[in-house]
Amino acid sequence: MKGFAMLKIGEVGWIEKERPTCGPMDAICRPLAIAICTSDVHTVWEGAVGDRHNMILGHEGCAEVVEVGECVKDFKPGDKVLVPAITPDWNSLEAQGGYSMHSGGMLAGWKFSNFKDGLDSEFFHVNDADGNLAHLPENINTVDACMLSDMVPTGFHGVELADVQFGDEVLVIGIGPVGLMSVAGAHMRGASRILAVGTRPKCVEVAKFYGADEFISYKNGSIEEQVLDMTGGKGVDKVIIAGGDVDTFDSAVKALKPGGKIGNVNYLGSGDMISIPRVEWGVGMGHKQIVGGLMPGGRLRMEKLGALVASGKLDVSPLATHVFEGWDYIPEALQLMKDKPAELIKPVVKLD
Ligand code: NDP
Ligand code: ZN
Repeated sequence: MKGFAMLKIGEVGWIEKERPTCGPMDAICRPLAIAICTSDVHTVWEGAVGDRHNMILGHEGCAEVVEVGECVKDFKPGDKVLVPAITPDWNSLEAQGGYSMHSGGMLAGWKFSNFKDGLDSEFFHVNDADGNLAHLPENINTVDACMLSDMVPTGFHGVELADVQFGDEVLVIGIGPVGLMSVAGAHMRGASRILAVGTRPKCVEVAKFYGADEFISYKNGSIEEQVLDMTGGKGVDKVIIAGGDVDTFDSAVKALKPGGKIGNVNYLGSGDMISIPRVEWGVGMGHKQIVGGLMPGGRLRMEKLGALVASGKLDVSPLATHVFEGWDYIPEALQLMKDKPAELIKPVVKLD
């Protein structure tokens, strides 16, 4: 089978591989559409998951099942499915402890294009098919379905980590596709005011659509000063971080009220330490919580998030700004995500 792979750090290309084999609890699928992620850019050009050779890329997409193992109960060849980016081992102790995304070790629930070949291939392997796949609702098209692999679950996880409550004033730092879904999730959870940090006009326009009220540019001075100005010096109840770097935590802590929570879903690619401002962290006693997390995967979550899209309560269609048709466009779509032109949010390639 052919697949589009990371050949080594900084280099990509088409390769031929053996079709993966199906274990008793597994499924083999063929992608119907795939989306490119900022994480793919981190993986290839920054070596984010380490050096990998001839590893097929891709962790976002929807698919058709072509084969299932003898123990798989709820899926059969021909079924169309949502595929989560994170596919934990549901029998693991970590999953039993409530942190399935770390099954097998820290971040090890992220298997596609990390520990094994990903979706940008004629066929790909899904472990624990009953626990990880979800049936694709009939009224969700294949392009929108790709947003359910990672963008919706990650953006919404930021909202869960920050524990957004009715009436909260929320700061969302970063309004790429992940942060946009955090805006949407915070709005659904009843935030009374959403301040969003980002500059690309297309992202600002879509953030307004999802419920952002006011905007801050990190290029116009410090985020915290702008937030404090906009909140009469009080700060916000919750912060979701979906962009920036190790220094962004400094701003997040300073922009937060005592008792507030910071939910980080951003990948921190450089720097050894994250610094917490001592005074604004209440000299150690400010009850300002900081949590960072990889998105949870799993079938139940996919079904629930899929139901939000299928019911029309969450419209993900504004995210896929660039839609291509055909395998040949995968390299171009990845390059586009690397270049991040101003009008881009997410590139998707339809393969069916
Ligand atoms: P994008 O690059 O599309 O968006 C990043 C956003 O952050 C943009 O709005 C950008 O603003 C803003 N930004 C850039 N620099 C700063 C800064 N210094 N301070 C504040 N804001 C800044 O990324 P994605 O939305 O695709 O992904 C966001 C992050 O989430 C990535 O790091 C990705 O790897 C990670 N991720 C995490 C997952 C998880 O499970 N935890 C899963 C998937 C992705 P501008 O408008 O100016 O570009
Ligand atoms: Zn992704």
